[in-house]
Amino acid sequence: MVVVSPKRLDEIVRMLAGHTRVLLLGCNTCAAVALAGGDREVETMIQSLRLATSRRGMTIGFIGGVLQRQCEPEYIDAMEAEEYDAILSLGCGAGVAMLAAESDVPVYPALNTLFIGAAQGFASWRAECSACGTCVLGDTAGICPVTRCAKGIMDGPCGGVNEGQCELGDRPCAWVEIHERLEAQGRVEMFAREHPPKDDSLGKLAGLDLSGPGGAP
Ligand code: SF4
Ligand code: SF4
Repeated sequence: MVVVSPKRLDEIVRMLAGHTRVLLLGCNTCAAVALAGGDREVETMIQSLRLATSRRGMTIGFIGGVLQRQCEPEYIDAMEAEEYDAILSLGCGAGVAMLAAESDVPVYPALNTLFIGAAQGFASWRAECSACGTCVLGDTAGICPVTRCAKGIMDGPCGGVNEGQCELGDRPCAWVEIHERLEAQGRVEMFAREHPPKDDSLGKLAGLDLSGPGGAP
């Protein structure tokens, strides 16, 4: 799922300066599962913003709502008419973009969009994919070097690997993990295979209309 986390409150307050009535809009899909954009998080953020803005002498009214998905226009079309002069989205970047395209008022992000992740436990996700557009997981035993290698190296490991750990010290070396898993699967020869340069153009499709099955160009 798309993993998100809240922005700092002072950054949000700065974005809302000059507005008088703001709609906080959650998203009941990924952002709610990430405990960042559901009903409870919308209500908590409204309380925090009321306090933060009144302390700064700002007069802003806040109202809240949650859409099932912010990234699909039919849910936006079904929004109840309310008076507001800005929207603060508690959705991912795609939700903010869709709301901004469909609204007459400015739309601001309350969250940072981090990565596509897999659940590790309650409200905990590990980054597994950065949506590069050219997936190599078939060659790398399902471990993404773009995302899990600190340098995004495609033919690792680099010289900094130390006893299986990345030289940054915050993670196992992705390429050691790839080697171990390929070995366990009896296809370690894949490790020595040269990977042609990736075609990163597929990861930069912003603004294109990828209509058709699966959205493929
Ligand atoms: S290779 Fe690209 S598409 Fe595949 S998991 Fe990694 S970032 Fe995602
Ligand atoms: S040590 Fe491994 S994970 Fe860290 S940057 Fe080098 S190749 Fe990537």
